[in-house]
Amino acid sequence: MINVTKTFFPPLDEYTKQLERIWKNKWLTNRGQLVFELEEKLKEYLGVSNILITNNGTIPLQIALKLLGNGGEIITTPFSYVATTAAIVWENCTPVFVDIHPEYLTIDESLIEAAITPKTTCILATHVFGNPCNVGEIDRIAKKYNLKVIYDAAHCFGVKYNGKSIFEYGDVSTCSFHATKLFHTGEGGAIFCKDKGLRHKIFYSHNFGHNGPLAFHGLGINAKISDLQAAMGLSVLPYLNKILTERKKVVDYYNNHLNLSKIQVLKIRENTNWNYSYYPVILESESTLLNVEEILNENQIFPRRYFYPSLNTIEYTNGQKMPISESIASRILCLPLYDCLNEATIFTICNHINKE
Ligand SMILES: *Cc1c(COP(=O)(O)O)cnc(C)c1O
Repeated sequence: MINVTKTFFPPLDEYTKQLERIWKNKWLTNRGQLVFELEEKLKEYLGVSNILITNNGTIPLQIALKLLGNGGEIITTPFSYVATTAAIVWENCTPVFVDIHPEYLTIDESLIEAAITPKTTCILATHVFGNPCNVGEIDRIAKKYNLKVIYDAAHCFGVKYNGKSIFEYGDVSTCSFHATKLFHTGEGGAIFCKDKGLRHKIFYSHNFGHNGPLAFHGLGINAKISDLQAAMGLSVLPYLNKILTERKKVVDYYNNHLNLSKIQVLKIRENTNWNYSYYPVILESESTLLNVEEILNENQIFPRRYFYPSLNTIEYTNGQKMPISESIASRILCLPLYDCLNEATIFTICNHINKE
């Protein structure tokens, strides 16, 4: 069975070597040695000035919204994973959707200003499939209206934009280290923030608000990662460059064998070093998509409709109309993409899609 992705498992003996360190330290969580070490290694690998690793990629969004959202209106994209919108609603803020660019699939920055009201506090945008938003223009708008910018960069491990890690953009950026993501710790994530004062608030917020064992800076939640998860990260990280090389081969194969005059593929923003994280194809219609899906499923190949549905249509949002996002969401299919996917399978997938 071929799924849309396949979790990378490092050699078991390398993982157990890391676990042996935990057994020796007798330290499982509350920022043990392995968590610190993973943070240092990630800083170096990603080229970022700061990182706080967390228990997943959703709580960091909630922490950012708790600290910056102020219960106000959050300008956001309807084309993302449900966690982006759910975090806004969960933090008692109101999502205000702005439609997406039809080729980059990120929020259409030219429509943002029209959606700003006196209640707007933040822009929360997703770098979709690792493709950066127009961060320069979003930054300009945010400064003009005194708004904060949060990027859901769950898909962006290793992405660089204008020569800099994509995590360095915005007031806060978040990432996911879920097992289905490019780099993983089983469950896990990270939060990035350049401002020292805000970073301090994020840090204590992620650990119940603690200021030492007996005092509190303020309200907090538990977003800590354990050393068991850090052990997985430390075992996966040495393989990242190899994983990226292998994924690039699969992407190149798709690019060379799909009939690109009939289907639309992701347009990567200029000046991006992309990470080969997903291979979405946008088909002519939803019925074409359903046909392709059925044929591939018959061949034991399971692509995924990602992202579907458009988030403005889910029941706890306000049902604004987002024609481009709704149209793309109904026609987009992420094809299998992982480091050891064989050519024969990719060939089969391309053949079936080209025939439709
Ligand atoms: C995976 C994902 C998340 C959530 O990350 P978790 O680690 O699963 O909590 C958030 N946003 C996007 C865009 C994602 O793809």
